Amino acid sequence: MLWESIAFGPIRSRRLGSSLGINLLPIVKKICSFDCVYCECGWTLDSNMDTSGFFSLEEVNQAIETKLIQCQQDKIPIDSITFSGNGEPTLHPDFLAIVDNLIRLRDQYYPNAIITCLSNSTQLYRDDVREALMKIENPVLKLDAVTEELYQMINAPVQDVKVAQIIEWLKLFKGQFVLQTLFFSGKIGGVEFDNAKEPHLSQWIDVVLMLKPQKVMLYSLDRETPAENLTKLSTEEMEKIAQILRDKGIPTSVY
Ligand code: SF4
Repeated sequence: MLWESIAFGPIRSRRLGSSLGINLLPIVKKICSFDCVYCECGWTLDSNMDTSGFFSLEEVNQAIETKLIQCQQDKIPIDSITFSGNGEPTLHPDFLAIVDNLIRLRDQYYPNAIITCLSNSTQLYRDDVREALMKIENPVLKLDAVTEELYQMINAPVQDVKVAQIIEWLKLFKGQFVLQTLFFSGKIGGVEFDNAKEPHLSQWIDVVLMLKPQKVMLYSLDRETPAENLTKLSTEEMEKIAQILRDKGIPTSVY
């Protein structure tokens, strides 16, 4: 599934309420630094992360302002303006400038809306990306696995980024972020995995407690996945994991 415009929706989101989506990436293919086996956009067919087809800063600014004006005229509520779309939004070379402009537009048209970015955390090595994500209210950063083996299997990075590096970059946020994890099981390349089972679960909990995010969002498979043989974790099982974190003082929601 690919989004066909820069600004789309608002759509009703379980996590974010009325969410106006912002897609910075081309509408013809997904571009991402990961190739997650569960990605709703399908497989990452282009592994060179070519940003030349990204929408320009000017195109993005214009599309967002037009959409916000239209929503305001139609009296459509917006709870969150959300970077998501056809791949990893922080790959955009002008991500910081886009965020700066979006903050200005949000303050002008929808001052009560929060700005959310759903990111896979791979670009956190860039100072400008960290600066942008620290400026918004809701940087939602992915961490599905904390061992390199499981991370390679689930997220299949196409960029040379190790999960240990991601964890180090997440530390730089000093807890001022939302951590999101997708729990599921399956069989990839003949190897079975389950990131909600031991020893993975305890290892993940240790890292979460060390990072102390403002909030943790747990979710499981919702739509069709490119890989076959994947199984969603039940809400009851996710609630058990959530309660472990809540008991340690970390607000955790299950979606
Ligand atoms: S990080 Fe997001 S967009 Fe990229 S492959 Fe994974 S699920 Fe898809």
